[in-house]
Amino acid sequence: MSLAEQLDTVTAASAGTVDRHATTQTFESTNPATGAVVGVFPVHDTDAVTETVERARAAATQWAELGFDGRKERLAAYRGYLARRMNELSELVHRENGKPHGDAILEITLAIDHLAWAAGHAGRTLGRRRVRAGMLAANHAAYLEYQPLGVVGVIGPWNYPVFTPMGSIAYALAAGNAVVFKPSEHTPAIGAWLAAAWRAAVPDAADAFQVVTGFGETGAALCRAGVGKLAFTGSAPTGRKVMATCAETLTPVLMELGGKDAMIVDDDADVVAAADAAVWGAMSNAGQTCIGIERVYATSKVYDRFVAEVTEQVRKLRPGSDDEATYGPMTMASQGGVVRGHIEGAATAGGRVVRGDADPSLFPNENYLAPTVLLDVPEDNVAIREETFGPTLSITKVRDAEEALELTNTSAHGLGGSVFTKSKARGLDLARRMRSGMTSVNSVLTFASVPALPFGGVGDSGFGRIHGEDGLKEFTRAKAITRQRYALPVNLMSFGRPASATDAVARVMGMLHGRHR
Ligand code: NAD
Repeated sequence: MSLAEQLDTVTAASAGTVDRHATTQTFESTNPATGAVVGVFPVHDTDAVTETVERARAAATQWAELGFDGRKERLAAYRGYLARRMNELSELVHRENGKPHGDAILEITLAIDHLAWAAGHAGRTLGRRRVRAGMLAANHAAYLEYQPLGVVGVIGPWNYPVFTPMGSIAYALAAGNAVVFKPSEHTPAIGAWLAAAWRAAVPDAADAFQVVTGFGETGAALCRAGVGKLAFTGSAPTGRKVMATCAETLTPVLMELGGKDAMIVDDDADVVAAADAAVWGAMSNAGQTCIGIERVYATSKVYDRFVAEVTEQVRKLRPGSDDEATYGPMTMASQGGVVRGHIEGAATAGGRVVRGDADPSLFPNENYLAPTVLLDVPEDNVAIREETFGPTLSITKVRDAEEALELTNTSAHGLGGSVFTKSKARGLDLARRMRSGMTSVNSVLTFASVPALPFGGVGDSGFGRIHGEDGLKEFTRAKAITRQRYALPVNLMSFGRPASATDAVARVMGMLHGRHR
């Protein structure tokens, strides 16, 4: 079957929801490299979203009843399906998002790894366990378990259209929830493909994972549809709107927002390795990475060598849509305007702008941006303060790593970050003190590929965590249970207790805790 036929199938399959909703409005998703139409998708309105969530609610009960083992089996079938069709999915990601095939394969690989981890660890992390009842309830058994929330709404961005939403979808499903996913309006075909793949791989729980498509209004309808939690990944301004909408129904939210991640290059760093990591961290995926490196603070001792190495490496980068291209186009044309604005802003403020050798006149269209290094841009500049989300990297000279850390930590964002130093103690110390949710020492972005590690930010980068045990618990509510094993002769929680009983308790507490000053 050709890709076009497969896409038609996918669109039709995802429209399983649509047929029943009779939604008339549609929108097109286009290939950012060519402008060609990738697919036509329904704009799901409030009624359609509500119906989808209601169907998911019914499915959620059955899905939860399958237990950890039953869900693990089905999540394994899903990841097997994704792994077998990785080339098909990566071709679709390439066409709709624009990134090179190799990057798409890497993204899907990470998503599959997280699916495996979430399914494999859900039982141990969330299942019922006994905890110590303590002195006052010594005659009781105490149990703790983490129960699913029902239906989880997931709203996703376009930059990592498989990996990013899967960080919520996989963990929410493994925890026993059904999921309704609204992909970005720029990557609906990928979202529809993921849901169609689920129906094909897990037919006996097909409604446990469904997709709705559309713009912000469709996302807002999902916020209002009575879901147990809304997991949002996107920009901070939209995150604020999502929180406000969710507040109407007291729907809890998870916020995975933008970043302005920094790298600190210390005196003793391996400068070549740091430059290689900074260039890849900044420019891969055309810089459209929430945890991409946007700022580097290099100490005066290494600054010149680091800048020389980075500019040399950047020279060789070439955006394009062929298999040899290092990165693809901007997925959203409007994002190109933001990036150009930041470069202009940096130049106007006296920053030096160094571009790669790639000739922009040979770029296929204006969605392709030249790799750009910005040197010594003032700290209050837009290119330093706001998320650029393009193939740019600012490098600033600092006295030492302490000054680098201070400047790193002034950002309103705090998602990820990186430190380069040969000293283990110094690396871990700087990483701990960095105001971010995640930091890699002597590499970039590695934390995202470790399924056991939680992923999320601080400040304008959001709150809550996906991935790891915290990511599983994020999609549950803790349930506490006690069971009286035997009755005591004196029950303190009864109007029938003698006055002497509380006097005895006071004496015991005095002996146990009174000596602490
Ligand atoms: P965006 O905020 O424009 O849109 C994200 C999603 O929100 C889309 O699906 C959109 O349709 C939906 N939406 C828009 N308005 C809405 C509303 N009023 N109510 C409900 N939903 C609404 O973000 P984007 O441009 O798609 O993605 C890029 C941003 O995402 C960047 O800031 C990037 O850093 C961030 N991001 C963060 C992470 C993370 O894990 N922290 C991962 C990837 C991307």
